[in-house]
Amino acid sequence: MPSILKAQCPCCNIVASGDLKKMDEFFGFRNMKDTGKKIAQSYCRNCRSKHCDPGHKKC
Ligand SMILES: [Zn+2]
Repeated sequence: MPSILKAQCPCCNIVASGDLKKMDEFFGFRNMKDTGKKIAQSYCRNCRSKHCDPGHKKC
């Protein structure tokens, strides 16, 4: 299956897979303008709010 069903945050390594509700809760989705598809955010909500990145962990 495509990556839409699995997401892992590169900062805190939280994983959400298979459950769209869970993924929406932890990661959220964004719409791809070109394809119209929804894909999971690469960073979890928590890390996005902290502007975390793998080289500068803040969480
Ligand atoms: Zn995270």
